[in-house]
Amino acid sequence: MSQHPQTNAIRIQTPLTSQHEHSTPLFLTSSFQFETAEDMQGAFAETNDHNIYSRFVNPTVQEFIDKVCALEGAEDGFATATGMAAVFGSFMTFLSAGDHILSSPAVFGSTHTILTKYLQRWGIQCTYANFSNPAEVEAALRPNTKMIYLETPTNPGLDVFDLQWIGKLCKEKNIIFNVDNCFATPLLQRPIDFGADLVIHSATKWMDGQGRVLGGIVVGKKELIREIYLFCRNTGPSMSPFNAWVLSKSLETLDVRMQRHCDNAEALARMLEGHQQIKAVRYPTLPSHPAYAIARQQMRRGGGIVTFELHGGAEAGVKFMNGLKMLSLTSNLGDTRSIASHPASTTHSKLQPEERLLVGITPGLIRISVGLEHITDIIADVQQALDALV
Ligand SMILES: *Cc1c(COP(=O)(O)O)cnc(C)c1O
Repeated sequence: MSQHPQTNAIRIQTPLTSQHEHSTPLFLTSSFQFETAEDMQGAFAETNDHNIYSRFVNPTVQEFIDKVCALEGAEDGFATATGMAAVFGSFMTFLSAGDHILSSPAVFGSTHTILTKYLQRWGIQCTYANFSNPAEVEAALRPNTKMIYLETPTNPGLDVFDLQWIGKLCKEKNIIFNVDNCFATPLLQRPIDFGADLVIHSATKWMDGQGRVLGGIVVGKKELIREIYLFCRNTGPSMSPFNAWVLSKSLETLDVRMQRHCDNAEALARMLEGHQQIKAVRYPTLPSHPAYAIARQQMRRGGGIVTFELHGGAEAGVKFMNGLKMLSLTSNLGDTRSIASHPASTTHSKLQPEERLLVGITPGLIRISVGLEHITDIIADVQQALDALV
């Protein structure tokens, strides 16, 4: 295969069928048939690689997996119905009663719920540490720490953590290093290059990029993915072939889309930095970002999300949202359409105020997922909604 991951994301394809198709075919079949009983026996014994059943593997799903592996520089992967199924599957495959998982507190809302509510029920300990502070992380490790989990950049606070340092720590202590790379995408950051063992994506976001289907994937070391595969083939969170077909086509344009998302996000972040209604702007590759040097070291560009804190707090947040004329109010992100959200009054409204602050959500925080519309129109809409706050 060609060297460049971008090329592989376009050119990797399931073996051609007898129909000589050029674009990728959709294998919308739940099971696969065998010529002989021996073939079937061999498939179950894994002495041949005949497809069996789409809960295990499906050629269209495999094509999507192969492309993401090429992009992330991963050995193998397993695709799931949603990003949360990938997160949950990666936890449940490796964590047993008595184990400890150490996570950054700033994780996707449902991940926070799994970590703090459900894992305890099965006797798995979870604690949070601030991964910007190495001493705090080292002090939080326990003899039974099995996994370190984090997102970088985080949702929605855009904290950036040093993958290289944490990767080294995990190797030394024999801990599984699991990274949710959804916000960066493999085009902007490849955690495996810095020592991650597992990399997770909600493919629903930038990978689909057009707000159509849900999907998730875990990629990483072959022997770890083998365990995830065995867990998932029995428990059933597998990706639908139809969604895999949509997502595989989407990966062909991920590079060009991400470049434009980044162009637009950088321009919006620069405009916001000067605005009088705004207390602070967060964007990983703005020199004002607290982890700017780390972002420069591990990310090619800053990504498509910009967040900012309004002087006027929660009230201003709601007013800003109502003042938007073009940007969509929706909880998704990573779409061609620019989207605004106010986490304190929506996705994180059920948390206690102290809990919200712990996960990085201040009352006037606005998150913009910067789309592919003309940048002048995006800036004009945000500007007029900010100006109306005066
Ligand atoms: C959306 C998201 C998820 C969950 O993915 P779904 O596809 O919605 O299940 C996990 N992590 C991050 C960072 C996300 O943005």
